[in-house]
Amino acid sequence: MHAATTTTNRNSARERVRFAPSPNGLLHLGHARSALLNWRFAKAREGLFLLRIEDIDVTRARPEFEQAICEDLDWLGIVWPDPPRRQSEHFDDYRRALEELKKLDLVYPAFMSRAEAAGHIREAEAGGKVWPRDPDGVPLYPRQDRNLGAAERRRRIESGDPHGWRLDMRAALAGLTAGLSWRETGAGPAGETGEIAATPDVWGDVILARRDVPSSYHLAVTVDDALQDITTVVRGHDLFAATSVHRLLQTILGLPAPNYLHHDLVRDETGRKLSKSDGDVSLASLRRKGFGPEDIARLAGL
Ligand code: GLU
Repeated sequence: MHAATTTTNRNSARERVRFAPSPNGLLHLGHARSALLNWRFAKAREGLFLLRIEDIDVTRARPEFEQAICEDLDWLGIVWPDPPRRQSEHFDDYRRALEELKKLDLVYPAFMSRAEAAGHIREAEAGGKVWPRDPDGVPLYPRQDRNLGAAERRRRIESGDPHGWRLDMRAALAGLTAGLSWRETGAGPAGETGEIAATPDVWGDVILARRDVPSSYHLAVTVDDALQDITTVVRGHDLFAATSVHRLLQTILGLPAPNYLHHDLVRDETGRKLSKSDGDVSLASLRRKGFGPEDIARLAGL
């Protein structure tokens, strides 16, 4: 049984916030908004701003993007203790957390490749089933692997079958002794604020370790927010719903609950959120065009 950790245990500490970009592209105005909100939050409270490089996806992360992130933040006037926490240097921390979850029997090996899972879902949908999707619109993982017996799981692992690890959401929720919530000091996309009830079940059996990477975003962010003693997580609305998963993992792993401050996103003229992959204007190119840090803050809505 895991008791819900309190959401009020960090209020007396000196505030510690983090900006946690993934080095797989150049920062744009949306990142500038998040970084500056973190920075101003820390400054206003004599707190500490930390930089975390979320580079667990070693196939996409590139050192030149990390370098560019540091240059951009430096140019914006943001200061952080060096070196930043690079997730790729801490895989053992995430492995340890996963081992704990294995001991609690709250995770299972997930053998389906992306293509296999997608094929399975397509087939079910062709047969008229409405397949459930998570808040990001991603179809939930099929049940087959969760339902495998212990001996079959062991046999397949021992025979070298590639697999990730997924949270057994049903088992995790069954072990809770109290409702889960978090303290939202900003607001969610629909204006949610104050004590927010967590609904991790909508995410299904979330991925915690991938076939090729010994962690996932959810696991690494939960472990790192605790290891870096983060008191308030300041980040965009796009991660508001994911907070439910983070609160669940914190509770199971016995980690403290930070406060959360979600902020709205910078959007383009059509209302679309900015994205690296769509080639949205980078801070570096704005700088080259002669924009200054104050212009960036203004363009980022601050
Ligand atoms: N690495 C995530 C991103 O670049 C941010 C994660 C977080 O702030 O929790 O969107």
